[in-house]
Amino acid sequence: MATTTTEATKTSPTNGEDRQSQNLRHQEVGHKSLLQSDDLYQYILETSVYPREPESMKELREVTAKHPWNIMTTSADEGQFLNMLIKLVNAKNTMEIGVYTGYSLLATALALPEDGKILAMDVNRENYELGLPIIEKAGVAHKIDFREGPALPVLDELVADEKNHGTYDFIFVDADKDNYINYHKRLIDLVKVGGVIGYDNTLWNGSVVAPPDAPMRKYVRYYRDFVLELNKALAADPRIEICMLPVGDGITICRRIN
Ligand code: SAM
Ligand code: CA
Repeated sequence: MATTTTEATKTSPTNGEDRQSQNLRHQEVGHKSLLQSDDLYQYILETSVYPREPESMKELREVTAKHPWNIMTTSADEGQFLNMLIKLVNAKNTMEIGVYTGYSLLATALALPEDGKILAMDVNRENYELGLPIIEKAGVAHKIDFREGPALPVLDELVADEKNHGTYDFIFVDADKDNYINYHKRLIDLVKVGGVIGYDNTLWNGSVVAPPDAPMRKYVRYYRDFVLELNKALAADPRIEICMLPVGDGITICRRIN
């Protein structure tokens, strides 16, 4: 510990620019230098995730890997995290916005009790149907109510009926980032007090700390400002407690407190 501090102090940059140009790790008290390398990530997958991954999730992951848009899928470690979180909060009534081929959906469905429910929304049914046979084989398709189409009108309909307020235990949001704030405005009424909303991709490829003129893929640049706005809005929202985790591409866990 003392050695690390000495090393860090010796090379400590004098301002933010130096820090960036020297690409030094930050020196917050308690910083544990997690995920220093790709090898460390691989270690997590091989030691903790793959050996415990249900056969159906492995199969769905392999089918998805062959799909041209596979960059969109939830990673195996995040799937394991969601599965654990849903069990920890004893979720029964859940929602997912953004299904793609269904990896996070299957992680959720497997975690829920037999009579658990997932309202799952995606504008694209074709990709959902790619994973559906695997979900059916796993015996959890009866928990899923899939709605094809944009999520916002469905949420508006739910919010319009007060009976739906405070009825969701867990909600996973993993769709169009430019609508996350609009989703949040509605979801906060639908999730129960003590319930959880997870907003995915809140570190947005690391672009949240990139200078505005940094090279970025077009879609990363386009959604970046929306993610930055969301992160500020969540941090300022007194109705929730939050915790931003560097799992996958960043997930912000929000617990409704009033
Ligand atoms: N959670 C998924 C998984 O584990 O593989 C990944 C979801 S992917 C990142 C984002 C999904 O959001 C896409 O399948 C896309 O079709 C869907 N989407 C985009 N805009 C949407 C909207 N307005 N309403 C519902 N779904 C939308
Ligand atoms: Ca995601």
